[in-house]
Amino acid sequence: MEETKKTTKEQTKAKKVVKILLKIFIPIVAIAVILAIALQIAGFGAFYGLYEPKSNSSKYTDELEGYGVWDNTIENQLPQTVVHKLVMDHFNSPLPKGKKVKKVIFLGFDGYRADAIANIKDDPQSAIMYVKSLGGLYHAYAGGIPGKNEQHTSTAPGWASMLTGGWSLFHGISNNGQYKNGNETFLTTLAKQGHNASFTASWREHTALSYRPDIVQSIKNNIPVEYNHEIDDMATYYQVLKYVSKSKGQEKTAKEDPDVIFFTFEFTDHNGHLYGFGNNKNYYQGSLDANYYGYDIIKTIEARDTYEQEDWLILISTDHGGTGHVHGNQTIMERSTWIAVNKKIDITDEYLNYGQAS
Ligand SMILES: [Zn+2]
Repeated sequence: MEETKKTTKEQTKAKKVVKILLKIFIPIVAIAVILAIALQIAGFGAFYGLYEPKSNSSKYTDELEGYGVWDNTIENQLPQTVVHKLVMDHFNSPLPKGKKVKKVIFLGFDGYRADAIANIKDDPQSAIMYVKSLGGLYHAYAGGIPGKNEQHTSTAPGWASMLTGGWSLFHGISNNGQYKNGNETFLTTLAKQGHNASFTASWREHTALSYRPDIVQSIKNNIPVEYNHEIDDMATYYQVLKYVSKSKGQEKTAKEDPDVIFFTFEFTDHNGHLYGFGNNKNYYQGSLDANYYGYDIIKTIEARDTYEQEDWLILISTDHGGTGHVHGNQTIMERSTWIAVNKKIDITDEYLNYGQAS
């Protein structure tokens, strides 16, 4: 009898505690939900400039167009292969008056989704917006020609398309994990013409696999392209700074001062895979890091002792976008890329259809 009473008492007590807890928690949860919805409506979700992911393509492209930063329309987006044309045209054109040497630097921001432009669009001291101010910023695309000469929106095929000027049927890399074939990158072509070139990245697959045939060929045939595998982006940054810096009266060898520089930063791709390609603070920070270290490299170029006699082409681009924590497919978030270049592009069919024959 005594036991039952005790149990009933305890049960009543427990019920009371539950009731009190519910009274406290239900309003807290409700307030939190209302606050979250209100902040989303108020546009707080746009703080990082990234919206994840759009249910349809036109919403995403409308959003990109809304930034007001582009020098072409999305209908006139350039194939990423056009980077090769820009570089080769630069070296094949005559030197402007007063200039003695052609130079190119191609800054690769791996996995920098097109809508991450929003993160820096109002900052003239970001690499992308600074280069745009000297030339233009253009919509571009990765992933090849669907159904015809398609390739994964992934790292190895993306950079190979920009370096060789063709899609996978031309360079042999349709996905990560594949060797490039014998068709030349502009690094090799220009090195054979007597320009020292360099390739610097921390993504292991570039030097361990995709470009292994190119590296071996460079070593065996004494083609002056230097391939550097760095341990991380900071090491890449220091190596590129070493290449581009030239203080007053400093003497550098052609190898120490290459005419053709290509490198990639993994800041955005790395954080995209870990935290998501989208509206989160890590991806946002990755986009800032790429821009500020990139800006510093460009300013170091402008401070070169011999800068006035040099004709520099400065390019920045990305290999692919992303969605969720991945990329590789053909969605608009993965296919849409961009090219910033310090010279204006007059968009003609020659640019829109550029692709080396396969
Ligand atoms: Zn990538």
